[in-house]
Amino acid sequence: MIAAAYVKDMDASRAFYELLGFRESSAGQAEISAWSVMRQGELSILLASTRPALDVPPLPLLFYFFYSDLDAVVSVLDAAGVPVTRTGHPPHALGGEVKVLDPDGNTVLLGQRERSASRPPADDEGLIRFSILREAAALVSSRGVAPRACQVTGRDGGRCPNPAEVKLADSLGDSAWVCLPHAEQILVTVPAAFIASHDERGIAAFLAGH
Ligand SMILES: [Zn+2]
Repeated sequence: MIAAAYVKDMDASRAFYELLGFRESSAGQAEISAWSVMRQGELSILLASTRPALDVPPLPLLFYFFYSDLDAVVSVLDAAGVPVTRTGHPPHALGGEVKVLDPDGNTVLLGQRERSASRPPADDEGLIRFSILREAAALVSSRGVAPRACQVTGRDGGRCPNPAEVKLADSLGDSAWVCLPHAEQILVTVPAAFIASHDERGIAAFLAGH
């Protein structure tokens, strides 16, 4: 399989993937298009560009690359002045995960599967699987939204004893404040559920303005 990505500026994109350890193995050009195959070990990605450039919206995830030594790659990116955002240690990347943007604004995630020998296991690993949930909870707590009790009730009718940290909603308009373990369970089992973010201007803001 060769993954393909359309890029606006072939030179800028080639330079970006070189920072990630890829080297150009073949390239070509025609009147209104150009392409480059970038290789790293057994991986190949095909960069393609057209004139005029295709109007591809910035993708929330273009590639996810795993490295055995994430810090080494991050050093290279730092030295090149590429902004790197650390996104924590999710279960698929116990050695760490970072987010970078390619020259077209697409998100590229870099992860290290195995925990580094120098890093002890965190207490909350396995409990909170999604770093995005943790980010949402941090946002809620930074905004000073009053914490409530988790609204999930058990089969015996008893309330979940955990504090609520995030608000989940679904497309029918139902919502609930829940603890992080329940948030994870709901997001995995209820396809229509999403995190109700306080970052977004909601319908209330729209109605207030009309
Ligand atoms: Zn709960």
